[in-house]
Amino acid sequence: MSEKIKELKVSAIENGTVIDHIPSNAVFQVIRMLKLDSFDSMVLFATNLESKKYGTKGLIKVSNKFFLPEELNKIALVAPHASIIEIRDFRVSSKKVVEIPAQVTGIVKCFNPNCVTNHEQVTRRFTVVEKEDLRLKCHFCEKITRRSNMEFI
Ligand SMILES: [Zn+2]
Repeated sequence: MSEKIKELKVSAIENGTVIDHIPSNAVFQVIRMLKLDSFDSMVLFATNLESKKYGTKGLIKVSNKFFLPEELNKIALVAPHASIIEIRDFRVSSKKVVEIPAQVTGIVKCFNPNCVTNHEQVTRRFTVVEKEDLRLKCHFCEKITRRSNMEFI
């Protein structure tokens, strides 16, 4: 029993954000997308936790940080079912799900090797043309990048 309490104390956060239901293999990608590798408050993460809904899942807890919707919607590209739980004073103050944004800027490489964005210093920009079976249309060459050949910067 005392072990259990200790464990809870370590993992509870007073204020901050819990990102739940991340596919286990996407946890490190989410950490990179949210730049948590250089964050200076406590960050806890776990992979391969049991999940009733998805088999296994990953989870990230970030202390003293609340994210903007546009930061969170980026992670929908790799964690489409992620839920975002904000904690204030040890209590859940809000709970929401991520949404794939209409535009994706600066995080995905264009699939077309001849695209200008792969040769010059231009910010990569896509319009999301299909959310379910993710397809991104490049603003510059108009080629479609799909989930299966999506590469993150
Ligand atoms: Zn392109």
